[in-house]
Amino acid sequence: MAPSDQYSQDLFAKDDPFVKGAEKTRVKVLLPLPLAGTYDYGVPDGMDLTPGDFVKVPLGPRKLIGVVWGYAEESDVAASKLKDIDSVLHIGRLPEANRKFVDWMAAYCLAAPGAVLRMAMSVPAVFEPQKPKYLLTAKEGEISIKMTAARQRVLNVVREFPPMSSADIAREAGVSASVVKGLMAADALDAIMIPVGGLWPEPHPDSTGFKLSEAQKNAADHICEEVKKHKFAVSLLDGVTGSGKTEVYFEAIAETLRQNKQVLILLPEIALSAQWLSRFEARFGVRPGEWHSDVGGSKKRDCWQAIAAGRLKVVVGARSALHLPFADLGLIIVDEEHEASFKQEDGVIYHARDMAIVRGQITNCPVVLASATPSMETTINVSQGRFDHLVLPERHGQAVLPEVTLIDLLKDKPGRQQWISPPLADAVKETLDKGEQVLLFLNRRGYAPLTLCNTCGHRLQCPNCTAWLVEHRFSNRLECHHCGYQAPMPTECPECNDQHSFRACGPGVERLAEEVSNLLPDARVEVVTSDTLYGPVAASAFVDRVTSHETNVIIGTQIVAKGYHFPDLTLVGVIDADLGLSGGDLRASERCFQLLHQVAGRAGRSDRPGRVMIQTSNVKEPVMAALANGDRDGFMAAEAEQREAAEMPPYGRLAALIISGPDPDMVNAVSKRLAQSAPFGEGIIVLGPTPAPLAVLRGKHRRRMLLKVSKNISVQKLLKPWLNAQKIPSSVRVQVDIDPYSFF
Ligand code: ADP
Ligand code: ZN
Repeated sequence: MAPSDQYSQDLFAKDDPFVKGAEKTRVKVLLPLPLAGTYDYGVPDGMDLTPGDFVKVPLGPRKLIGVVWGYAEESDVAASKLKDIDSVLHIGRLPEANRKFVDWMAAYCLAAPGAVLRMAMSVPAVFEPQKPKYLLTAKEGEISIKMTAARQRVLNVVREFPPMSSADIAREAGVSASVVKGLMAADALDAIMIPVGGLWPEPHPDSTGFKLSEAQKNAADHICEEVKKHKFAVSLLDGVTGSGKTEVYFEAIAETLRQNKQVLILLPEIALSAQWLSRFEARFGVRPGEWHSDVGGSKKRDCWQAIAAGRLKVVVGARSALHLPFADLGLIIVDEEHEASFKQEDGVIYHARDMAIVRGQITNCPVVLASATPSMETTINVSQGRFDHLVLPERHGQAVLPEVTLIDLLKDKPGRQQWISPPLADAVKETLDKGEQVLLFLNRRGYAPLTLCNTCGHRLQCPNCTAWLVEHRFSNRLECHHCGYQAPMPTECPECNDQHSFRACGPGVERLAEEVSNLLPDARVEVVTSDTLYGPVAASAFVDRVTSHETNVIIGTQIVAKGYHFPDLTLVGVIDADLGLSGGDLRASERCFQLLHQVAGRAGRSDRPGRVMIQTSNVKEPVMAALANGDRDGFMAAEAEQREAAEMPPYGRLAALIISGPDPDMVNAVSKRLAQSAPFGEGIIVLGPTPAPLAVLRGKHRRRMLLKVSKNISVQKLLKPWLNAQKIPSSVRVQVDIDPYSFF
């Protein structure tokens, strides 16, 4: 359920931190620790504090940095026990919108506010003292110094170039650093201080975009109007892959820049691709600020500070960018809004798309969700009139949507120990003969999902998890895809000691690559998974290899399903379309549709028409028929009907509890007590506890409970007293997952 229909809930009315008229001699400080609430501190004489200030405070023997959250009441802590604030950091404030957002998120996710604040303070470098940085430039007027040839070269350089760092000047002039230093000391150069956060050239809103089609223009105009109003509104930008959604929201970014406001674009982690960044740069003349796990600490510090100062206008990032301290945020875009990776599954569990909407609401700015396969939550919000619906019905220019056919694996059987059916094999060959490219999609890393001993039947299992170990033949290792455990591939069976008795069961991408190479020895095959595409540099090298045809068969997992635009890729083959349907997850069909539609969208994106072949043993499944007929709306309507009948999200609310710990007996005991005290009543169903499908993960035993309630009941209001009434031993962890997306 998108929280947009939940704002009306009074989630944090009681502890509104801003107590009006209270004494200002003590304040509440929130620390970035998983603590339940704020701590009170005294304000030393002469210290002037405002909510949002970053302050250093004593906590036990430590000094920590926290945020002034509000003024405190006299009665909360005895004056004699109150410790004083140590100092104020002069690095700007955490804006009110961010503080409200932290409180809202903590209340919605049932997380400690400090744990949420920690996400907003994730870069320690921001809070460390910084040396001021300077650029040097020529001094106006006459200078009287002893002139040397080296000094003259430096002066020539500074007169000719814009202000530069002393290191750059020395390099440009071909002199040692001491020459520049000497000139500084002789007062022959002017120093310009660089503001904290560094210099970020402004993007140019008015450099040329494309001439938009009518549908594109209508959509762009609508969002631009919203941007000008400076008001909260959510629009779904709904268009098939390649219809120009990115071009449309680029127009909205341009309008926001003209309004002199800031823009946040959330992309699913894997889509933070080189291709997207270079398109942005081509349109706006500069690179945006980037905020994701591959960006280093000092870059992040600069980004954080320039955003706080309002000097960095556009940031593209992953989930955690929602917590950046924007000075004047005017637009939020969530691209590929249906992506499951927007759900953060550890620490504070939250859905970044839903939280982006909340952020827009609190900030009072428009939010744009873009997708070719919108999520059920968003689809329902559109149909109920909460979100605007902007449709781009066709691909841009000559490109047409690929033709999709189903291959019935029960009829067109691949050979023994093979996974490519004869019709798909023929199509691959045809495509390569025409000089075009192929993508074979299989969502399984490694060589084979299961390895067993031919002699005794022993299966290789992870020592820390209820999971098989996956053989990775490229690296000759075994790997657990849940905890990351790795071991060399053994030569003998640990059970019966037989030598070289292992047999691979089922296909992974590496095994598929082997099959293609046997089938077509001339094919230039490349396997692409998170193992090979681990960062932006690797990703752009991959793009280059495909663009130059150094690679003509891509064999990949979901990492290649999205975002990439390869004009000569005309055939997509889905090896096992049924993979995503197993497991009984409530969103399995929806996700299967989204993923395969997305993969299919890689075919025929330019003037050569594309085709998609989907191998399945379930040709009668509605999701397969919908893929073949391109009937997204019919499929979603049927799905919605089923969800409504079962009161499943978004027609009902779910919250999951995951109870885990090293000792199974303690975990069971806590689970049992939770079950005994579970809330009950009309419209409330509590399921479990049951062992989680991954009953052991990273050595922790896991039980799950599921709370399912009618739409008009607040899960937070049920969960809070229920969980608070339990004394939970420190070795057992109870995680709350509101609106769960994964059920393992
Ligand atoms: P989407 O985001 O919907 O997948 P894109 O914005 O990536 O679509 O557009 C697909 C391709 O078509 C891109 O190469 C884009 O530059 C091009 N394109 C889209 N709209 C136009 C237009 N109006 N004029 C020229 N090229 C366009
Ligand atoms: Zn494991």
